[in-house]
Amino acid sequence: MPYKFTFDLSRIPRFFFTEIARLGYEKKMHKKAGDTMYRMLRKFKVQEATGLNLTDAIVLLEDLVEMQARNLIERENFTKTKKRALFLPHCSRKYMDNRCKATFDSETPSYKCAHCSPDCLINRAVSYAEKKGYDVYVLPGGSCVPKILKGKRYEGVVGVACGEEIRLSGDLLKSMNVAGQAVPLIRNGCANTAFNLETLVNVL
Ligand code: SF4
Repeated sequence: MPYKFTFDLSRIPRFFFTEIARLGYEKKMHKKAGDTMYRMLRKFKVQEATGLNLTDAIVLLEDLVEMQARNLIERENFTKTKKRALFLPHCSRKYMDNRCKATFDSETPSYKCAHCSPDCLINRAVSYAEKKGYDVYVLPGGSCVPKILKGKRYEGVVGVACGEEIRLSGDLLKSMNVAGQAVPLIRNGCANTAFNLETLVNVL
């Protein structure tokens, strides 16, 4: 289930995500992270940059911190896995209409990128991950994840999505004993969503 609000963190300094990583670590260490979250919202002017109200900004930040904490907890298990998949959101394609030359496999279900645009985020992520040996799925929605996982029996999965979807998928991965790593969207919505490619490369 996606967020009921939209956000765009692309104008917030990259240092914000370093702080998220630190908070995630603190959370993993069971330290109190709540006060720091409020300070971060003010420090990075998250509400001003995104237009989010305080409640939504906190939900977003909490999910990002939770995601980071899970990444840290799962990292060691993940690095030991061999059979891996990458799940990417179809809404990060450069085009959402017929200018995108990807084919859709309704059986899987997933788009197969045709690499039509060198500057397409999905194209670059797919190319990099496939070279590293990942099976890559460009998903029309998070509801496709259980079907793929049940059929393919991956040991490790990297998912790019908004915090809420990653939290739900994280529970599923745990129940299936699959080691997961997550990369957050820095801009959500129905189209033109974005993630940081450098972050993804580091996770892969
Ligand atoms: S590079 Fe791939 S995902 Fe991007 S627009 Fe072209 S076919 Fe679609």
